[in-house]
Amino acid sequence: MHLGLIKTNCYLVESPGAAVVIDPGFQTQETVDFLAANAAKERMILITHSHFDHIGGAPALREVTGVPIGIGKGDSAALADPAKNLADRFHAHFAPFVADRTFADGETVQVGDLSFRVIETPGHTVGGVSYLLDGVLFSGDTLFEGTVGRTDFPGGDFKALKKSLRRLMTLDGEVRVLSGHGDETTIARERQTNLFLR
Ligand SMILES: [Zn+2]
Repeated sequence: MHLGLIKTNCYLVESPGAAVVIDPGFQTQETVDFLAANAAKERMILITHSHFDHIGGAPALREVTGVPIGIGKGDSAALADPAKNLADRFHAHFAPFVADRTFADGETVQVGDLSFRVIETPGHTVGGVSYLLDGVLFSGDTLFEGTVGRTDFPGGDFKALKKSLRRLMTLDGEVRVLSGHGDETTIARERQTNLFLR
């Protein structure tokens, strides 16, 4: 599902025992309906990094559904900082907020029958993370099809990004990559075709 003018990807993950919304950048009835329809399951709102276009819909979604918000610990402070999360710069309107859970690198986040492994992937932001769910990587704005995240926003660090990307490239080639913007790809395909990874 694409949300907002800049087409941030928001992912809805559903299993027999869980329902997870990843990066609700903007408010939409669809995310509310999804979590409401899965009220009997364990539910969570997962955020890859603290930029406004990935978090802007999260506080309202939590308020309506009561579902907790989780984010990598290094990016949690920026949720309440409109300069760091770029809400000021892009005139996004949502109240500063605090996450219910923060995750460390290597941690497994268990939501019902789903296990998300937290991989810290700083560089695009100070404390962005990717989430690995079985053979699927939610890479946020770290890795895209054919390109990589920009590092010219506050907290960006190209050296750190390169290190994060090298880490992601150690994953199995078959792993599907679902990015924060743009189309789906795989680790193998990015290894072969992504100019930034050569
Ligand atoms: Zn971003």
